[in-house]
Amino acid sequence: MSNNFQFIEVDRVDPDKQPVELRKTQFIEIYQPFTQQQVNQQADRCLDCGNPYCEWRCPLHNYIPNWLSLAKQGRIMDAADLVHETNTLPEVCGRVCPQDRLCEGSCTLNAEYGAVTIGNVEKYITDTALAQGWKPDMSKVVPRKERVAIIGAGPAGLGCADILARNGVKAVVYDRYQQIGGLLTYGIPAFKLDKSVMATRRQVMEGMGIEFRLGTEIGKDVAFSALLDEYDAVFLGMGTYTAMKAGLPGEDAQGVIQALPYLIANTKELLGEKDAQQSYVSLKGQKVVVLGGGDTAMDCVRTAVRQGAESVICAYRRDEANMPGSRREVKNAREEGVEFLFNRQPTAIKTVAGKVVGIECVETRMGEADASGRRRPEPIPGSEQLLEADAVIIAFGFQPSPASWFADYGIEVDDWQRVKAPKESDTPFQTSNPKVFAGGDMVRGSDLVVTAIAEGRDAARGILNFFD
Ligand code: FAD
Ligand code: SF4
Repeated sequence: MSNNFQFIEVDRVDPDKQPVELRKTQFIEIYQPFTQQQVNQQADRCLDCGNPYCEWRCPLHNYIPNWLSLAKQGRIMDAADLVHETNTLPEVCGRVCPQDRLCEGSCTLNAEYGAVTIGNVEKYITDTALAQGWKPDMSKVVPRKERVAIIGAGPAGLGCADILARNGVKAVVYDRYQQIGGLLTYGIPAFKLDKSVMATRRQVMEGMGIEFRLGTEIGKDVAFSALLDEYDAVFLGMGTYTAMKAGLPGEDAQGVIQALPYLIANTKELLGEKDAQQSYVSLKGQKVVVLGGGDTAMDCVRTAVRQGAESVICAYRRDEANMPGSRREVKNAREEGVEFLFNRQPTAIKTVAGKVVGIECVETRMGEADASGRRRPEPIPGSEQLLEADAVIIAFGFQPSPASWFADYGIEVDDWQRVKAPKESDTPFQTSNPKVFAGGDMVRGSDLVVTAIAEGRDAARGILNFFD
């Protein structure tokens, strides 16, 4: 029986973590799964608000109180059906969404009693149902004649394929990598998202009739024109892959590493995949400084720890309160031995004989807010210092990387090189070429898994409207 005061009598509980000593040496997910008892207790804390803020804050508008209630009743297969009505990859979102800024941040209980642990219940429902053989019910789907090519098997492309398949449209997904998932597989390290998660999801999606043509780069192995000729529409979900340069003297020295190639090569090494660029770098025994304060920087520091670096420092030019990285991941990194130096702005990479030996920094104080509303770091004169380093990882974020062939097909980009594909339209996410739709990071700029899924799904609805 439900307890109306559960939210007072039972605290918010996060899942147990693997012991730190184990975490520091292995690329394994650090969070242990919830038990059904923990699920019951957390789900029972939900107040079932008349107008649930959590649902509105979730970019997918998940039916959160409803599936919390089903989970609490032990109706896991029904809960999984409902979870999948709005989300293509709930097991992924449950693991990697910054819930403190999204659903859980908006939970009515958050300020005073601690939010319901929504993300972990979403993960529990989906993992448990998939382990018990859950599959979407496709028995009422009426096949249509149209076929759609999707470029990119990241969350945007998969979100699009899911909705198309559920509406009877054949979706064929192309990706240059050997596995599906995009950054879920190659960017986000296994200690946040185990690689088996996307392998399981691939089986589910193939069971829905979605076809994957992997190891195929459009524009190189297959011409874009061939897709336009063969398919009734094309969806672009190609992500953002141009790393932002630091603009520092010494940036091209040996020992300066770009974050994303470093993470991708490390994952390929763990997966046993051949890397044509041979960019795998081990930082074992090295003094490592990571520049940046976002989630990519957090993934780099924690990867370097697991590779056996002698010391790992994260240097960030603003203070901790103004850091974009998830609080949860900063805490995890600290537990694993990462040192954080806030208010440190790099000014040059110091080299000897073309090799990194350190990074010159100046301390900063937080000044006035800039146009974006964030307080600007101001250098403090006379505070110059040197941080010793054998390797410096630059994790300053990514810009869109539009393909050279977009212009040939009338696909326009904005001043930030993002593909123009407006959401507010009868055919959402249609580009300036009517037959081509786009979504995810390449349209909104680097963002989140959950927003990429949402845009891929909305774009599929745009494609269906375009056909009708
Ligand atoms: P992607 O995931 O980048 O997928 C694009 C796919 O397109 C890739 O597989 C690529 O190979 C393929 N592709 C591109 N061009 C071609 C071509 N010409 N032919 C064939 N295939 C092509 N978000 C979170 O919510 N939580 C996190 O914890 C988090 N951590 C992150 C950590 C890192 C290191 C990074 C880099 C990002 C992280 N993100 C996180 C952001 C999140 O991963 C992205 O916002 C999301 O993956 C974007 O999805 P997408 O489908 O638009 O692009
Ligand atoms: Fe929360 Fe993300 Fe799940 Fe939405 S998708 S309910 S934001 S964890």
